[in-house]
Amino acid sequence: MYNTFLIKYGEIGIKGDNRHLFEDALAKRIRTVLAHIGGEFTVRKTRGRIYVSCAGDWNYEETVTQLGHVFGVVGICPVMIYERRDPEQLKRDMLDYVSKEHPGCRSTFKVKARRVDKTFPLTSMETAAALGEVILQNFPEMKVDVHEPELLFDVEIREEVYIYSKIIPGPGGMPIGTAGRAMLLLSGGIDSPVAGWMTAKRGVTLDAVYFHAPPYTSERAKQKVVDLAAQLAKYTGPIRLHVVNFTDIQLHIYDECPHEELTIIMRRYMMRIAEHFAREEGDLGLITGESIGQVASQTMQSLYVTDAAASMPVYRPLIGFDKNDIVEISRKIGTYETSILPYEDCCTIFVARHPVTKPILPVIERSEAKLKDSIEGLLKTAIETAELLIAK
Ligand code: ATP
Ligand code: MG
Repeated sequence: MYNTFLIKYGEIGIKGDNRHLFEDALAKRIRTVLAHIGGEFTVRKTRGRIYVSCAGDWNYEETVTQLGHVFGVVGICPVMIYERRDPEQLKRDMLDYVSKEHPGCRSTFKVKARRVDKTFPLTSMETAAALGEVILQNFPEMKVDVHEPELLFDVEIREEVYIYSKIIPGPGGMPIGTAGRAMLLLSGGIDSPVAGWMTAKRGVTLDAVYFHAPPYTSERAKQKVVDLAAQLAKYTGPIRLHVVNFTDIQLHIYDECPHEELTIIMRRYMMRIAEHFAREEGDLGLITGESIGQVASQTMQSLYVTDAAASMPVYRPLIGFDKNDIVEISRKIGTYETSILPYEDCCTIFVARHPVTKPILPVIERSEAKLKDSIEGLLKTAIETAELLIAK
C-alpha cells in the first residue's frame, strides 16, 4: 500500500545555522541503516522534511524497524502518494485513503491540509474543509473534532499529493556522530548498555571497553558483552570494543590490598585503562552505568573516589534512575534479554563480603601505593595485550 515514509525530526529542526549539518547527518544515517536490508531506497531532503522512497524488494516491517533505530527520528509516517490533479480527484483520493487505511472507522477526526504548490485552486483552509465534508458524507460514523481528534489526516499538496495519518514513534535524540565520541565501560550487566544508549541518543559516537578475567570469567561472558555491543551498534553503527585481560591486575590487588577495598581499587584501575584507550580513540569522556546507591561501589563516596582516578569527564547518564526505570529502557532497546544471561562478571568474583561503602581517598591511595612497583608493568601488559573487536 505504501512506498514512502515521511520522517519527522523534532529538535534538530531548530538548530539554527547548523541545521543542515544535522539534517545531513540524519539523512546519511538513514541511508546507512537501510543499506543493510533488501530493497532500493531513496532518501530525499526537501524543505525541512526527509522522505524515504522504497522500491524493489523491500519489506515494510523491516524498514520501519530500521528507521526506528535512527537517533534524531521522532516519527515515521507511512505516506500514500496520489497524482495531483483537481479538487474533485483529491476528494476521491481522500476517500480511497480512508477506506484503505481505516476501514470501518468510527473515530473522530480532523483534516489538516497544506498547499505547498500554490497553483492548486483551493487554499489550505478550503482544501481541509472540502475533504472533511466528503469524509463525513461517505463515512457517517466518523465525526469531526478539531481540538482532540483521534485521527489527524495530514494532506500535503506538492507536485503530488501526500496523505498520512499514522505516526510510528522513533527514538528521538540527535543523529549519531554530531556530538563527538566517548568511551563506554561496557560490562555484561543491565545498566551499562542503557547508559551507552542514552549517551549515543544525544549524538555521541561510542567506543567501548570490557574487562574480563580469564579463566575466572568465561568466553561466554565475553561473548555476551560482544552481543550487547552488537545490539547497541544497531543504533550507533559499528562499535570499536577493546577487550582487556584484567586477571593479573585483579590478583595483584587481591594479594596486596585490604579485601574490603578490592572493588573500589579495581574500579580505579578500570578507569585508568579505559582512559588510555579513550585518548587513543579521541574520546572526550568515559561513560558508566552507575547510579547513586545501587551497590557499595556506587555511593557518593565511592563515586568520588572512583572519579579521582580519571582525568577525563565521567558521564553517568543513569545517575538518578531507579533499577526499574533502567530495566524498562533495556527492554525497549533490546539489550535486556542478553543482559540477564547468568554469566559471571569480573567485578563479582573477587568481591569482599563487606566492601567499604564510604571509602576515603587518601586511605585508598595509601593502599594503592603498595602496588606501585609491579602494577605499572601489569597495566602496560594489559594495554598491550588488549584485543580490539568491531561489534556490528
Ligand atoms: P552493569 O549492570 O552495567 O554491569 P552494575 O550495576 O553491575 O552495572 P557495577 O558492577 O558496580 O554495577 O559496575 C558499574 C559500572 O562499571 C558498570 O555500569 C560499567 O559501566 C562499569 N563496569 C563494571 N564492570 C565492568 C567490566 N567488566 N568491564 C567494563 N566495564 C565495567
Ligand atoms: Mg556489573
